[in-house]
Formats: sequence, structure tokens, C-alpha cells
Amino acid sequence: MKAPAFAYRRPDELAEALSLLADDGAQVLAGGQSLIASLNMRLSAPALLVDINRIGALRGIEDRADGIRIGALVRHVDVLHSPVIARQVPLLAMALPHVAHMAVRNRGTTCGSLALADPSAEMPALAVTLNAKIVLEKQGARRTVAARDFFQGLYQTDRQDDEMITEVIFPRAADDEVFGFAELARRHGDFATVGIAVRARRSGDTLENLDVVIFGSEATPLLSPATSALRIAADATAPMLADMAEAITATMEPMENHQGRADTKRKQAAVLLRRTFRDMQSRAFAGKGNGHD
Ligand SMILES: Cc1cc2nc3c(=O)[nH]c(=O)nc-3n(C[C@H](O)[C@H](O)[C@H](O)COP(=O)(O)OP(=O)(O)OC[C@H]3O[C@@H](n4cnc5c(N)ncnc54)[C@H](O)[C@@H]3O)c2cc1C
Repeated sequence: MKAPAFAYRRPDELAEALSLLADDGAQVLAGGQSLIASLNMRLSAPALLVDINRIGALRGIEDRADGIRIGALVRHVDVLHSPVIARQVPLLAMALPHVAHMAVRNRGTTCGSLALADPSAEMPALAVTLNAKIVLEKQGARRTVAARDFFQGLYQTDRQDDEMITEVIFPRAADDEVFGFAELARRHGDFATVGIAVRARRSGDTLENLDVVIFGSEATPLLSPATSALRIAADATAPMLADMAEAITATMEPMENHQGRADTKRKQAAVLLRRTFRDMQSRAFAGKGNGHD
């Protein structure tokens, strides 16, 4: 099928783009990796596409006082190869190789992925795990929303139609933080059936203050409510790590769909968590010996 008719504008300045977005039926075109397909399938019919690809102010990854800023025109490939990201937001660097295939990574943007809020996409899950801040602008107004409040339902976010995500700000990783990431996909680079992202703080011989996010299985990234009492000790055994994983996955309410039943997804997430906890334990306490059997 072909896309329905729409008007098209490609402004050079952010102010002009925001003024165009104030009109009913206007929609941002960023990397176009999802939007063009949805137009061609007639799943959306905007009156006006506002192509933001010429707006210099939306480019760039910057190391700033308030964190690491990723502008709306930063592509997945830029994040993947950024030394600033590798050093300061290592969880993004760990996850990026799983985001789509090279052709899609070359055009798709981090902020476009946040705006789309696909439940199987990595970026929303990582933004929730790391408690990133999403900056939304419209004509005459700017606000910042915590990623943990941004995702509201299946492809639904707190963003209003006349707002553009102009940047996302990720906190810089602290020296005592340890991260883990894993996902299950039918083929490497496909959207995840189930994925997990973990952040923990190392304190002596334990990893604590765990933030665990499960994605792909629910309508929005699930920040587990079951982690406050959990610790990964240097000497925790494999069965102990498996028990932790099961305590976390017990709180899941997975969608049942062609990718599997709820129970299957819970089990898949538990396996990913168990392996990831073990991997984090090995990296955090390398050389100390641990309870692995
Ligand atoms: C074959 C294929 C495989 C993929 N696999 C994965 C995967 O494994 N993991 C993954 O995370 N993603 C995957 N994607 C999605 C891709 O990575 C992009 O993240 C996604 O297309 C959105 O980014 P975009 O810049 O292309 O946005 P677009 O397609 O241009 O826009 C998508 C939507 O977001 C809106 N939008 C875009 N930018 C903004 C903004 N700054 N402010 C407000 N609204 C905005 C648009 O109006 C539109 O509604 C895949 C895509 C394809 C086509």
C-alpha cells in the first residue's frame, strides 16, 4: 500500500518546527523507521509531517553538568559508537548491539524510540532503568518528565500531540554502579520477546539497591516493585540467584500474544535475570571467588 496524502515541511529551526507542530494533525518525522512503515500500512494519517532532520540544535551527544544529553537527531548508531556513552552510560552501550539491524540503526533515533514507546524496544526500558529525564517542548513551553512517569500504556506516553521530545538526559554512571542487560529475540536484532535491564550499587561484598526493568512482555517497561530487600552477595549461590529471579518475575503480568503465554514469558524473564545476576556478580567480584557451583 501507499501512504495517504500529507503535507510535508522541513524547517531549519526548532522554533519553526514547534510552531508547525501546534497545528492539528501535525506529526514529527525523525528517522522514519517506524513512521514511514505505519503510513504505508495506513495505520496513521497525519495532515502534516514535520521533518526535523535539518535542525542543528537537535543533534549531538553532550556531557553536561546535569547528565549525558542525547538530542532528538542522535541515531542509534551514534549512541553505539560514542565514547562518551561507553564511559558514562555503559548500560546503553551494552544494549545498543541488540537494537534492530544496521540499516535501521543508521536512521532510527533514541528519542524517536522513546516517542513511539514500543513495548519491545530497548530505549524505553533503559530510560526507565536509569531514571532518565525526557525533555518535551512545544511552542512557548518546555517541561521535563521522568522516564518512569512517561510511559503510560501500549504505545501511549505523557507526550501531547503538539510536543516534541527535544532531548533525553541520562544520569552519569557512578563508580560503584554495576549494570546488566539481556534479551530474548527470535533473531539477533529483532524486537525482544522479553528483555531485562538491571542497575545495582556495589557496597562491600554485595550488590544492592537493585533497579530491575522487564520489557517486551508488558504494555510498558516494568520497574520491578520486588527488589528492595534483594541483594546479590559475592558468595550467593546459583540457587539463591534463581530464587531472586523468581521473586521478581512473580510480579509480572505479561501480555499473552503470538510470542507466548504469560507463564512462558515469566519463565523466560527468570532465566535472563538469573544469568544476568550471575554475570554481574562475576564482574563485580572478579577474583574473590563466589558461590557458583
Ligand atoms: C525492521 C525494524 C526493526 C526494528 N527493531 C528494533 C529493535 O530491535 N529495537 C528497538 O528499540 N527498535 C527497533 N526498531 C525501531 C527503530 O529502532 C526506531 O527506534 C524507531 O523507528 C523510532 O525512531 P525513528 O527515529 O525512526 O522515528 P520515526 O519513525 O520517525 O517516528 C516514530 C514515531 O515517533 C514520533 N517521533 C519521532 N521522533 C520524535 C520526537 N523527537 N518527538 C516527538 N515525536 C517523535 C513520530 O511522530 C512517530 O509517531 C525497528 C524498526 C524497524 C523498521
